[in-house]
Amino acid sequence: MAAKDTGSLRALRRTNSERLLSALMEHGALHRAELARICGLSRTTVSTITADLIAGSVVIEAVGDQVAKAGIDASEVDGRARGFLQANPGAGAAAGLDFTLERVWGHVTDLSGATLASAGVTTARDTPWQERLTAGLTLLDDLLAQTGLDRNALVGVAIGVPGPIDRQSGVVRPSLPGQAWAGVNVSTEFGRQLAVPVLVENNTRLEAVAEFTWGAGRGARDVLYVGLSTGIGSGLLVDGNLHQGGARGGGGEIGHISADPAGAQCPCGNRGCLVQYASLPAVLKTLQLADVDELLASAEAGRPDTVRVLREAGEVTGRVLANICNLLNPERIIVGGELARAGDLVLEPIRATLRRSAMALTRDADVVAAELDLGARAGASGAAALVLRQTDQLVAALLAGAELRPNEAV
Ligand SMILES: [Zn+2]
Repeated sequence: MAAKDTGSLRALRRTNSERLLSALMEHGALHRAELARICGLSRTTVSTITADLIAGSVVIEAVGDQVAKAGIDASEVDGRARGFLQANPGAGAAAGLDFTLERVWGHVTDLSGATLASAGVTTARDTPWQERLTAGLTLLDDLLAQTGLDRNALVGVAIGVPGPIDRQSGVVRPSLPGQAWAGVNVSTEFGRQLAVPVLVENNTRLEAVAEFTWGAGRGARDVLYVGLSTGIGSGLLVDGNLHQGGARGGGGEIGHISADPAGAQCPCGNRGCLVQYASLPAVLKTLQLADVDELLASAEAGRPDTVRVLREAGEVTGRVLANICNLLNPERIIVGGELARAGDLVLEPIRATLRRSAMALTRDADVVAAELDLGARAGASGAAALVLRQTDQLVAALLAGAELRPNEAV
Protein backbone atom coordinates (compact mmCIF):
# COMPACT_ATOMS: atom_id res chain seq x y z
CA MET A 1 0.00 0.00 0.00
CA ALA A 2 2.75 2.45 0.98
CA ALA A 3 4.50 1.88 -2.36
CA LYS A 4 1.35 2.85 -4.23
CA ASP A 5 0.93 5.97 -2.15
CA THR A 6 2.30 8.26 -4.84
CA GLY A 7 2.68 12.00 -4.61
CA SER A 8 -0.46 12.62 -6.61
CA LEU A 9 -2.48 10.29 -4.39
CA ARG A 10 -1.19 12.12 -1.34
CA ALA A 11 -2.10 15.43 -2.95
CA LEU A 12 -5.61 14.18 -3.67
CA ARG A 13 -5.99 12.93 -0.12
CA ARG A 14 -4.80 16.31 1.14
CA THR A 15 -7.32 18.16 -1.04
CA ASN A 16 -10.14 15.89 0.15
CA SER A 17 -9.05 16.36 3.77
CA GLU A 18 -9.16 20.13 3.31
CA ARG A 19 -12.61 19.90 1.79
CA LEU A 20 -13.99 17.75 4.61
CA LEU A 21 -12.49 19.88 7.33
CA SER A 22 -13.73 23.11 5.71
CA ALA A 23 -17.26 21.70 5.59
CA LEU A 24 -17.11 20.74 9.28
CA MET A 25 -15.74 24.19 10.21
CA GLU A 26 -18.48 25.97 8.30
CA HIS A 27 -21.46 23.79 9.18
CA GLY A 28 -20.61 22.42 12.64
CA ALA A 29 -21.48 18.79 13.34
CA LEU A 30 -22.45 16.84 10.22
CA HIS A 31 -23.52 13.28 9.54
CA ARG A 32 -21.04 11.30 7.41
CA ALA A 33 -23.63 11.01 4.62
CA GLU A 34 -24.26 14.76 4.65
CA LEU A 35 -20.51 15.37 4.67
CA ALA A 36 -20.13 13.14 1.59
CA ARG A 37 -22.92 15.03 -0.18
CA ILE A 38 -21.59 18.52 0.66
CA CYS A 39 -18.04 17.62 -0.39
CA GLY A 40 -19.10 15.65 -3.49
CA LEU A 41 -17.19 12.58 -2.30
CA SER A 42 -18.14 8.92 -1.99
CA ARG A 43 -18.99 7.47 1.42
CA THR A 44 -15.92 5.23 1.13
CA THR A 45 -13.62 8.19 0.52
CA VAL A 46 -15.19 10.07 3.42
CA SER A 47 -14.64 7.04 5.70
CA THR A 48 -10.99 6.70 4.70
CA ILE A 49 -10.21 10.40 5.08
CA THR A 50 -12.11 10.87 8.32
CA ALA A 51 -10.36 7.84 9.80
CA ASP A 52 -7.05 9.67 9.23
CA LEU A 53 -8.41 12.95 10.60
CA ILE A 54 -9.82 11.19 13.66
CA ALA A 55 -6.48 9.45 14.19
CA GLY A 56 -4.80 12.89 14.04
CA SER A 57 -7.33 14.25 16.62
CA VAL A 58 -8.43 16.92 14.15
CA VAL A 59 -11.93 15.47 13.82
CA ILE A 60 -13.95 13.78 16.55
CA GLU A 61 -17.23 11.91 16.79
CA ALA A 62 -19.89 14.49 17.61
CA VAL A 63 -21.75 14.10 20.87
CA GLY A 64 -25.32 15.09 21.74
CA ASP A 65 -25.08 18.84 22.31
CA GLN A 66 -22.92 19.43 19.25
CA VAL A 67 -25.41 17.51 17.15
CA ALA A 68 -28.18 19.63 18.69
CA LYS A 69 -26.26 22.79 17.75
CA ALA A 70 -26.38 21.62 14.15
CA GLY A 71 -30.17 21.89 14.40
CA ILE A 72 -30.91 18.20 14.93
CA ASP A 73 -32.95 16.88 17.83
CA ALA A 74 -30.29 15.41 20.13
CA SER A 75 -32.78 13.19 21.93
CA GLU A 76 -33.24 11.19 18.77
CA VAL A 77 -29.58 10.89 17.98
CA ASP A 78 -26.66 9.09 19.48
CA GLY A 79 -23.77 10.79 17.66
CA ARG A 80 -21.40 7.88 17.86
CA ALA A 81 -23.93 5.35 16.63
CA ARG A 82 -25.35 7.60 13.94
CA GLY A 83 -21.99 8.76 12.59
CA PHE A 84 -22.00 12.48 13.27
CA LEU A 85 -18.61 14.17 13.07
CA GLN A 86 -17.28 17.59 14.06
CA ALA A 87 -13.98 19.44 13.94
CA ASN A 88 -12.23 18.88 17.26
CA PRO A 89 -12.63 22.16 19.22
CA GLY A 90 -9.50 21.25 21.19
CA ALA A 91 -7.31 20.71 18.12
CA GLY A 92 -6.05 24.29 18.34
CA ALA A 93 -6.65 27.73 19.79
CA ALA A 94 -7.39 31.16 18.33
CA ALA A 95 -6.21 34.36 20.00
CA GLY A 96 -7.06 38.03 19.79
CA LEU A 97 -5.16 41.00 21.23
CA ASP A 98 -6.78 44.41 21.19
CA PHE A 99 -4.77 47.55 21.91
CA THR A 100 -6.55 50.73 22.94
CA LEU A 101 -4.90 53.88 24.22
CA GLU A 102 -4.63 52.70 27.82
CA ARG A 103 -5.14 48.96 27.68
CA VAL A 104 -4.37 45.71 25.96
CA TRP A 105 -6.86 42.87 26.22
CA GLY A 106 -6.18 39.25 25.26
CA HIS A 107 -8.77 36.60 24.44
CA VAL A 108 -8.11 32.92 23.71
CA THR A 109 -10.75 30.52 22.41
CA ASP A 110 -10.91 26.93 21.28
CA LEU A 111 -11.86 26.23 17.67
CA SER A 112 -15.57 26.31 18.44
CA GLY A 113 -15.22 29.87 19.76
CA ALA A 114 -15.62 28.90 23.42
CA THR A 115 -13.60 31.19 25.67
CA LEU A 116 -10.55 29.54 27.25
CA ALA A 117 -9.08 32.67 28.86
CA SER A 118 -9.61 36.42 28.67
CA ALA A 119 -7.90 39.26 30.55
CA GLY A 120 -6.47 42.74 30.15
CA VAL A 121 -3.63 44.90 31.44
CA THR A 122 -3.32 48.68 31.49
CA THR A 123 -0.68 50.64 29.63
CA ALA A 124 0.27 54.28 30.13
CA ARG A 125 -0.94 56.60 27.37
CA ASP A 126 2.61 57.45 26.27
CA THR A 127 3.80 53.82 26.08
CA PRO A 128 5.71 53.29 22.80
CA TRP A 129 4.50 50.53 20.48
CA GLN A 130 7.52 48.28 21.17
CA GLU A 131 6.56 48.08 24.85
CA ARG A 132 2.90 47.57 23.96
CA LEU A 133 3.90 44.66 21.71
CA THR A 134 5.91 43.06 24.52
CA ALA A 135 3.04 43.58 26.99
CA GLY A 136 0.64 41.96 24.50
CA LEU A 137 2.83 38.90 23.95
CA THR A 138 3.41 38.47 27.70
CA LEU A 139 -0.35 38.64 28.24
CA LEU A 140 -0.91 36.10 25.46
CA ASP A 141 1.62 33.68 26.97
CA ASP A 142 0.02 34.09 30.41
CA LEU A 143 -3.45 33.35 29.03
CA LEU A 144 -2.20 30.29 27.14
CA ALA A 145 -0.37 29.04 30.25
CA GLN A 146 -3.59 29.41 32.29
CA THR A 147 -5.25 26.94 29.94
CA GLY A 148 -2.29 24.55 29.80
CA LEU A 149 -1.36 25.58 26.24
CA ASP A 150 1.55 27.33 24.58
CA ARG A 151 2.07 29.22 21.32
CA ASN A 152 2.29 25.92 19.39
CA ALA A 153 -1.44 25.42 19.93
CA LEU A 154 -2.31 28.65 18.11
CA VAL A 155 -3.79 28.47 14.62
CA GLY A 156 -3.77 32.24 14.22
CA VAL A 157 -3.72 35.56 16.04
CA ALA A 158 -5.55 38.78 15.20
CA ILE A 159 -4.43 42.15 16.51
CA GLY A 160 -6.65 45.19 16.95
CA VAL A 161 -5.21 48.72 16.87
CA PRO A 162 -6.75 52.20 16.67
CA GLY A 163 -7.01 53.84 13.28
CA PRO A 164 -7.19 52.61 9.69
CA ILE A 165 -4.60 50.20 8.32
CA ASP A 166 -3.29 51.00 4.86
CA ARG A 167 -4.00 47.79 2.94
CA GLN A 168 -1.27 48.52 0.39
CA SER A 169 1.62 49.03 2.80
CA GLY A 170 0.20 47.25 5.87
CA VAL A 171 1.02 50.31 7.96
CA VAL A 172 -1.30 51.90 10.55
CA ARG A 173 -2.43 55.35 9.42
CA PRO A 174 -4.46 57.00 12.18
CA SER A 175 -6.75 59.85 11.13
CA LEU A 176 -5.58 61.91 14.11
CA PRO A 177 -2.07 62.44 15.53
CA GLY A 178 -0.61 60.95 18.71
CA GLN A 179 -1.30 57.23 18.21
CA ALA A 180 1.38 54.79 19.37
CA TRP A 181 1.05 52.44 16.37
CA ALA A 182 1.20 55.18 13.72
CA GLY A 183 3.51 54.17 10.86
CA VAL A 184 4.03 50.63 12.20
CA ASN A 185 3.44 47.46 10.18
CA VAL A 186 1.80 45.57 13.04
CA SER A 187 1.44 42.31 11.13
CA THR A 188 5.16 42.22 10.32
CA GLU A 189 6.22 43.12 13.86
CA PHE A 190 4.02 40.47 15.50
CA GLY A 191 4.87 38.01 12.73
CA ARG A 192 8.53 38.17 13.84
CA GLN A 193 7.46 36.84 17.25
CA LEU A 194 4.68 34.42 16.35
CA ALA A 195 4.99 31.43 14.02
CA VAL A 196 1.33 31.63 12.92
CA PRO A 197 -0.65 33.86 10.56
CA VAL A 198 -1.19 37.33 12.07
CA LEU A 199 -4.19 39.42 11.04
CA VAL A 200 -4.41 43.13 11.84
CA GLU A 201 -7.62 45.09 11.99
CA ASN A 202 -8.95 48.38 13.24
CA ASN A 203 -10.38 47.87 16.73
CA THR A 204 -13.82 49.27 15.96
CA ARG A 205 -14.18 46.71 13.17
CA LEU A 206 -13.25 43.99 15.66
CA GLU A 207 -15.97 45.23 18.03
CA ALA A 208 -18.32 44.91 15.04
CA VAL A 209 -17.24 41.28 14.49
CA ALA A 210 -17.69 40.55 18.20
CA GLU A 211 -21.21 42.01 18.23
CA PHE A 212 -22.04 40.16 15.01
CA THR A 213 -20.79 36.85 16.39
CA TRP A 214 -21.78 37.01 20.07
CA GLY A 215 -23.75 40.20 20.72
CA ALA A 216 -26.50 42.40 19.30
CA GLY A 217 -25.79 41.34 15.70
CA ARG A 218 -26.66 37.67 16.13
CA GLY A 219 -29.11 36.45 13.53
CA ALA A 220 -28.55 39.36 11.14
CA ARG A 221 -26.50 39.26 7.91
CA ASP A 222 -26.06 42.95 7.01
CA VAL A 223 -24.92 44.83 10.06
CA LEU A 224 -23.43 48.27 10.61
CA TYR A 225 -21.71 48.86 13.94
CA VAL A 226 -21.06 52.44 15.03
CA GLY A 227 -18.93 53.20 18.09
CA LEU A 228 -19.67 56.57 19.72
CA SER A 229 -16.57 56.79 21.86
CA THR A 230 -13.45 58.98 22.09
CA GLY A 231 -13.63 58.91 18.30
CA ILE A 232 -16.42 57.58 16.10
CA GLY A 233 -15.62 54.52 14.04
CA SER A 234 -17.63 51.83 12.34
CA GLY A 235 -17.54 48.25 11.16
CA LEU A 236 -19.65 46.86 8.35
CA LEU A 237 -20.60 43.24 7.74
CA VAL A 238 -22.11 42.60 4.32
CA ASP A 239 -23.85 39.25 4.02
CA GLY A 240 -21.85 38.14 7.04
CA ASN A 241 -18.46 39.21 5.69
CA LEU A 242 -16.44 41.99 7.29
CA HIS A 243 -15.79 44.85 4.90
CA GLN A 244 -12.10 45.62 5.28
CA GLY A 245 -12.28 49.25 4.33
CA GLY A 246 -12.00 49.16 0.55
CA ALA A 247 -9.09 49.87 -1.78
CA ARG A 248 -6.70 51.31 0.81
CA GLY A 249 -8.53 50.23 3.96
CA GLY A 250 -9.64 53.76 4.80
CA GLY A 251 -13.39 53.16 4.54
CA GLY A 252 -15.69 53.23 7.54
CA GLU A 253 -14.45 56.49 9.09
CA ILE A 254 -17.96 57.65 9.86
CA GLY A 255 -16.67 60.11 12.47
CA HIS A 256 -15.10 62.22 9.74
CA ILE A 257 -18.16 62.48 7.55
CA SER A 258 -19.14 66.12 7.61
CA ALA A 259 -22.46 66.88 9.27
CA ASP A 260 -22.06 70.63 8.70
CA PRO A 261 -19.82 72.03 5.94
CA ALA A 262 -19.84 75.39 7.77
CA GLY A 263 -18.82 73.76 11.07
CA ALA A 264 -15.53 74.09 12.89
CA GLN A 265 -12.28 72.85 11.38
CA CYS A 266 -11.48 69.22 12.32
CA PRO A 267 -7.85 68.03 12.67
CA CYS A 268 -8.56 65.68 9.72
CA GLY A 269 -8.85 68.73 7.44
CA ASN A 270 -12.63 68.57 7.01
CA ARG A 271 -15.21 70.84 8.65
CA GLY A 272 -18.11 69.95 10.94
CA CYS A 273 -17.22 66.26 11.24
CA LEU A 274 -19.66 64.00 13.13
CA VAL A 275 -16.97 63.40 15.76
CA GLN A 276 -17.18 67.10 16.68
CA TYR A 277 -20.81 66.65 17.80
CA ALA A 278 -21.46 63.06 18.79
CA SER A 279 -18.24 61.71 20.33
CA LEU A 280 -17.90 61.32 24.08
CA PRO A 281 -15.37 64.21 24.41
CA ALA A 282 -17.63 66.51 22.35
CA VAL A 283 -20.67 65.80 24.52
CA LEU A 284 -18.68 66.12 27.77
CA LYS A 285 -17.20 69.42 26.62
CA THR A 286 -20.59 70.89 25.71
CA LEU A 287 -22.05 69.89 29.07
CA GLN A 288 -18.84 70.70 30.98
CA LEU A 289 -18.82 67.27 32.60
CA ALA A 290 -15.67 65.38 33.63
CA ASP A 291 -16.33 61.82 32.50
CA VAL A 292 -18.83 59.26 31.30
CA ASP A 293 -19.97 58.43 34.85
CA GLU A 294 -20.99 62.05 35.44
CA LEU A 295 -22.73 62.07 32.07
CA LEU A 296 -24.72 58.92 32.80
CA ALA A 297 -25.65 60.13 36.29
CA SER A 298 -26.83 63.41 34.82
CA ALA A 299 -28.81 61.58 32.12
CA GLU A 300 -30.34 59.28 34.73
CA ALA A 301 -31.40 62.30 36.76
CA GLY A 302 -33.08 63.68 33.64
CA ARG A 303 -31.22 67.00 33.66
CA PRO A 304 -32.74 68.94 30.73
CA ASP A 305 -29.44 70.19 29.24
CA THR A 306 -28.01 66.65 29.27
CA VAL A 307 -31.13 65.18 27.68
CA ARG A 308 -31.05 67.91 25.01
CA VAL A 309 -27.34 67.46 24.18
CA LEU A 310 -27.73 63.67 23.95
CA ARG A 311 -30.78 64.13 21.70
CA GLU A 312 -28.83 66.47 19.45
CA ALA A 313 -25.92 64.00 19.32
CA GLY A 314 -28.41 61.29 18.33
CA GLU A 315 -30.00 63.49 15.68
CA VAL A 316 -26.73 64.45 14.00
CA THR A 317 -25.66 60.78 14.10
CA GLY A 318 -29.03 59.85 12.59
CA ARG A 319 -28.56 62.32 9.72
CA VAL A 320 -25.20 60.78 8.83
CA LEU A 321 -26.60 57.25 9.23
CA ALA A 322 -29.57 58.09 6.96
CA ASN A 323 -27.11 58.76 4.14
CA ILE A 324 -25.30 55.51 4.91
CA CYS A 325 -28.61 53.60 5.00
CA ASN A 326 -29.43 54.96 1.55
CA LEU A 327 -26.08 53.69 0.30
CA LEU A 328 -25.85 50.32 2.08
CA ASN A 329 -29.30 49.50 3.48
CA PRO A 330 -28.09 47.63 6.60
CA GLU A 331 -30.58 45.34 8.29
CA ARG A 332 -29.41 46.30 11.77
CA ILE A 333 -27.40 49.22 13.15
CA ILE A 334 -25.64 48.50 16.43
CA VAL A 335 -24.64 51.57 18.42
CA GLY A 336 -21.72 51.00 20.77
CA GLY A 337 -19.19 53.11 22.66
CA GLU A 338 -19.76 55.02 25.91
CA LEU A 339 -22.59 57.19 24.54
CA ALA A 340 -24.70 54.11 23.75
CA ARG A 341 -24.87 53.50 27.51
CA ALA A 342 -27.31 56.43 27.66
CA GLY A 343 -29.72 54.07 25.85
CA ASP A 344 -32.85 55.50 24.28
CA LEU A 345 -31.83 59.08 25.09
CA VAL A 346 -29.39 58.63 22.17
CA LEU A 347 -31.00 55.75 20.26
CA GLU A 348 -34.53 57.20 19.92
CA PRO A 349 -33.35 60.41 18.20
CA ILE A 350 -31.26 58.25 15.84
CA ARG A 351 -34.35 56.12 14.99
CA ALA A 352 -36.59 59.19 14.58
CA THR A 353 -34.07 60.92 12.29
CA LEU A 354 -33.66 57.76 10.19
CA ARG A 355 -37.42 57.44 9.76
CA ARG A 356 -37.56 61.08 8.68
CA SER A 357 -34.47 61.25 6.47
CA ALA A 358 -33.72 57.86 4.90
CA MET A 359 -35.45 56.42 1.84
CA ALA A 360 -38.55 54.26 2.32
CA LEU A 361 -36.77 50.93 1.78
CA THR A 362 -33.83 51.75 4.03
CA ARG A 363 -35.33 53.66 6.97
CA ASP A 364 -36.59 50.69 8.97
CA ALA A 365 -33.15 49.39 9.98
CA ASP A 366 -33.22 48.11 13.57
CA VAL A 367 -31.23 50.52 15.74
CA VAL A 368 -30.05 48.70 18.86
CA ALA A 369 -27.48 49.19 21.61
CA ALA A 370 -24.34 47.04 21.68
CA GLU A 371 -24.56 44.13 24.11
CA LEU A 372 -20.92 43.34 24.84
CA ASP A 373 -18.40 45.02 27.11
CA LEU A 374 -16.93 48.25 25.94
CA GLY A 375 -13.64 48.65 24.20
CA ALA A 376 -10.63 46.39 24.32
CA ARG A 377 -12.38 43.36 25.78
CA ALA A 378 -14.98 43.23 22.99
CA GLY A 379 -12.27 44.02 20.43
CA ALA A 380 -10.12 41.11 21.60
CA SER A 381 -13.02 38.64 21.43
CA GLY A 382 -13.82 39.99 17.96
CA ALA A 383 -10.18 39.44 17.00
CA ALA A 384 -10.39 35.78 18.05
CA ALA A 385 -13.67 35.48 16.12
CA LEU A 386 -11.92 36.94 13.08
CA VAL A 387 -9.26 34.21 13.27
CA LEU A 388 -11.99 31.56 13.46
CA ARG A 389 -13.59 32.95 10.29
CA GLN A 390 -10.44 32.23 8.25
CA THR A 391 -11.50 28.68 7.42
CA ASP A 392 -8.78 28.03 4.84
CA GLN A 393 -6.06 29.14 7.23
CA LEU A 394 -7.47 27.05 10.07
CA VAL A 395 -7.69 23.97 7.90
CA ALA A 396 -4.08 24.37 6.74
CA ALA A 397 -2.85 24.87 10.30
CA LEU A 398 -4.75 21.84 11.60
CA LEU A 399 -3.60 19.54 8.82
CA ALA A 400 0.00 20.69 9.33
CA GLY A 401 -0.38 19.94 13.05
CA ALA A 402 -1.90 16.51 12.33
CA GLU A 403 1.00 15.63 10.04
CA LEU A 404 3.45 16.53 12.79
CA ARG A 405 1.79 13.97 15.05
CA PRO A 406 0.79 11.18 12.65
CA ASN A 407 0.57 8.40 15.23
CA GLU A 408 -1.20 10.21 18.01
CA ALA A 409 -4.17 7.93 17.49
CA VAL A 410 -6.51 6.66 20.18
ZN1 LIG B 1 -12.68 65.11 10.74
